[in-house]
Amino acid sequence: MTANVIDGKAFAANLRARIATLAAEFTQATGRQAGLAVVLVGEDPASQVYVRSKGKSTVEAGMASFEHKLPADTDEATLLALVEQLNADPAVDGILVQLPLPRHLDEQKVIATINPDKDVDGFHVTNAGRLAVGQAGFVPCTPLGCLMLLQDRLGDLSGLDAVVIGRSNIVGKPMAQLLLAQSCTVTVAHSRTRNLPDVVRRADIVVAAVGRPEMIRGDWIKPGATVIDVGINRVAGAVEGKTRLVGDVAYAEAAAVAGAITPVPGGVGPMTIAVLLRNTLVAAYRHAGLPLAP
Ligand code: NDP
Repeated sequence: MTANVIDGKAFAANLRARIATLAAEFTQATGRQAGLAVVLVGEDPASQVYVRSKGKSTVEAGMASFEHKLPADTDEATLLALVEQLNADPAVDGILVQLPLPRHLDEQKVIATINPDKDVDGFHVTNAGRLAVGQAGFVPCTPLGCLMLLQDRLGDLSGLDAVVIGRSNIVGKPMAQLLLAQSCTVTVAHSRTRNLPDVVRRADIVVAAVGRPEMIRGDWIKPGATVIDVGINRVAGAVEGKTRLVGDVAYAEAAAVAGAITPVPGGVGPMTIAVLLRNTLVAAYRHAGLPLAP
């Protein structure tokens, strides 16, 4: 058996097209564009690439992008004052502070300063709490993107056994909450889990968010399972001096057993920005008091 490839790139492109339509309707109804503010502190090359890409996608979707680039030695008071200013700005519907921050800045304090109703990354404790108790809020983009791919592939997830490998606040934990809310039976595995291959073998749904290249092997996968690989790992390529991206799942092995699997790249990765745009649009509709068709 060879698994169906879950084409996250195509799904994300579709989602972005739908968002662009709704963003245009929002502008028509309110006379202003939905707005996303992105704050970058310092010159981390990967963060610069992400921020540029987020800004470009925001504009492509017909929304306003406000980029704030601060020097690496920015002090906490200056950064918090900027966040407060964005909280108060009616043109800003969503605020994203690109992580990681330089070490002298307290990430939790910065996130806690963002108005939860503008926290389109879903990292504020208020939004984590809302997710845990089933209230409307903002859900972190990557796990919400994974859920969308799973629902598109499987429809109703109720009763399925799901194993999430990884328990970070930005991927593993919210992923587990989302699957629980869909009535899956959820197991969260992590670095202390015993007999991980046996735990994974029970799963109808495997979500791998570990950050270890190709750790999850093909013989860990139950035949027919759906495998979502969140991992993005850069490893040495076949040609000397070149690198390539691999996931946390040994793709070729797993694809021979699974029912469906996301590739890396082109699986979960493209969903993150698409969901960020979706969250920003949802924020804008809420701020304007307008209903948003599902
Ligand atoms: P973290 O490093 O924050 O968390 C990794 C988790 O994996 C931890 O819970 C850790 O367990 C667990 N883990 C580590 N080693 C093992 C092991 N040997 N066996 C079982 N569990 C283990 O990573 P993130 O959640 O931030 O990211 C995970 C991956 O997803 C990374 O590759 C990252 O690049 C990628 N990613 C991709 C995104 C995208 O597609 N847009 C967005 C975000 C992340 P413990 O808690 O016990 O230490």
